[in-house]
Amino acid sequence: MKRLIDKLKEEHTLTNEEFAHLLSHYDDETLAYINLQAREVANAHFGKGVYIRGLIEISNHCRNNCKYCGIRKDNWQADRYRLSKEMILDCCEHATAWRRSSRKSAGAIRSVPLHYPSARNHRKPTNAIS
Ligand code: SF4
Repeated sequence: MKRLIDKLKEEHTLTNEEFAHLLSHYDDETLAYINLQAREVANAHFGKGVYIRGLIEISNHCRNNCKYCGIRKDNWQADRYRLSKEMILDCCEHATAWRRSSRKSAGAIRSVPLHYPSARNHRKPTNAIS
């Protein structure tokens, strides 16, 4: 198992068979090793810093049809939205507020569903295919 994890760390991918083997045969020791490797990679890229990132999802219309996804194109029950230019700029204002203080960040995050209620549940699968 460590050989596969090391390969994944070095080459950033595995074959389908290797992924299947890793996902179906892992144990606590394997998970601890994966966590250790992941921590080493994270430390190499970010050190001990904490970075906060935010995405502005300007639309939940998608041409793809990933079966696990609540906003796939064939989910006719999804509540679709597209943000206007003004809404996007408003989100940018919130993003700027996030940088000013952690208290404002928390408030801005909490306020997003108030301004964009349809964005709150857009990832919730409403027509999941099993
Ligand atoms: S995961 Fe959802 S949003 Fe992403 S490409 Fe697939 S269907 Fe589209």
